Amino acid sequence: TQEFSVSNRNPIHGKMGRVPVGIGRRRMRIVVTGGAGFVGSHLVDKLIGRGDEVIVIDNFFTGRKENVVHLFGNPRFELIRHDVVEPILLEVDQIYHLACPASPTNVMGTLNMLGLAKRVGARFLLTSTSEVYGDPLQHPQKETYWGNVNPIGERSCYDEGKRTAETLTMDYHRGDGVEVRIARIFNTYGPRMCLDDGRVVSNFVAQAIRKQPMTVYGDGKQTRSFQYVSDLVDGLVALMEGEHIGPFNLGNPGEFTMLELAEVVKDTIDPSATIEYKPNTADDPHMRKPDISKAKELLNWEPKIPLREGLPLMVNDFRNRILNEEEGKGA
Ligand code: NAD
Ligand code: UDP
Ligand code: UDP
Repeated sequence: TQEFSVSNRNPIHGKMGRVPVGIGRRRMRIVVTGGAGFVGSHLVDKLIGRGDEVIVIDNFFTGRKENVVHLFGNPRFELIRHDVVEPILLEVDQIYHLACPASPTNVMGTLNMLGLAKRVGARFLLTSTSEVYGDPLQHPQKETYWGNVNPIGERSCYDEGKRTAETLTMDYHRGDGVEVRIARIFNTYGPRMCLDDGRVVSNFVAQAIRKQPMTVYGDGKQTRSFQYVSDLVDGLVALMEGEHIGPFNLGNPGEFTMLELAEVVKDTIDPSATIEYKPNTADDPHMRKPDISKAKELLNWEPKIPLREGLPLMVNDFRNRILNEEEGKGA
């Protein structure tokens, strides 16, 4: 019927009985692993906002209850403190798998979520990373590029963990018929980003707010492409709901050197901000920029928020959290 036209084009998977939600689709029950983290909590807001039921699985390794506390008391929201390395039994339609400690346990968590997807017939989405391209010899990077990763390097635990997670995802698809989706996420920033995990945007923004010099590693000429979190969340949902497995690059093609980024942070937060050079880490990729033509064509998705518009949107959140931290210390 007209009412379920969207579902007809995009047949609903899974075995759950569903109740209608608004016009055009039925309410789904969706797991978001890592849903108390930076990206996950924004994704959860979007899914709750459109009327679905969301179960967050998080062990609070890097995530925070504060990121989802506004949803406590919502009957469509559930938070489970659980390590995805341990098996879990749930009945769900979709699994967004974001939980990812930067360690080999990444692989075990992905295996369990794929096992869960297989048992209940849920659709599974893996949040992989641009790091699968390593220090890329192709620029910009297309999904067809196999990458240039040092298997024994300092970063390889994360890179190879995600590469293995992609392999497992495709094996469960081919071997067990699990419906899967793979996103390769490029550097993403926004409110609720971890304050102290050492990423460049969070470092520069926090340093500028604290009136400390911004730490530029190496000569600062290496490049990254920075995506605002709401663009990513739109892309993840488009991928989950669409008909294509991927992998898809989800990132903003706007490319900046670290010195250019420092300049934007300076313009946005404090014109008197300074920089300080520090040695770079080993195996740091020299450049990174997504080719997003595949996502544009097949998912009808592209990012909307350029860096100069996105950065100001995270400043208030950072200011408040830094202020709270300082008050906490003073008390
Ligand atoms: P984040 O650290 O804020 O979120 C990860 C969440 O997973 C946290 O809430 C953490 O507590 C939880 N978690 C970790 N290990 C767990 C475990 N064993 N069991 C249950 N929960 C666990 O990170 P994020 O930036 O939101 O990243 C989300 C996903 O996107 C990750 O898979 C990451 O690899 C991927 N990604 C992010 C970026 C980026 O720029 N933010 C870039 C590429 C890929
Ligand atoms: N798994 C889980 N929840 C489920 C189904 C499976 O956590 O609802 C875990 C299971 O414990 C196993 C992993 O997922 O460790 C892979 O499951 P699968 O059935 O593919 O593997 P098998 O048990 O056949 O080795
Ligand atoms: N970087 C920097 N100063 C910092 C933190 C990072 O110049 O305080 C550089 C880092 O060397 C790298 C780039 O910023 O070249 C991006 O680092 P990040 O850890 O944010 O992301 P990734 O390397 O995973 O893309």
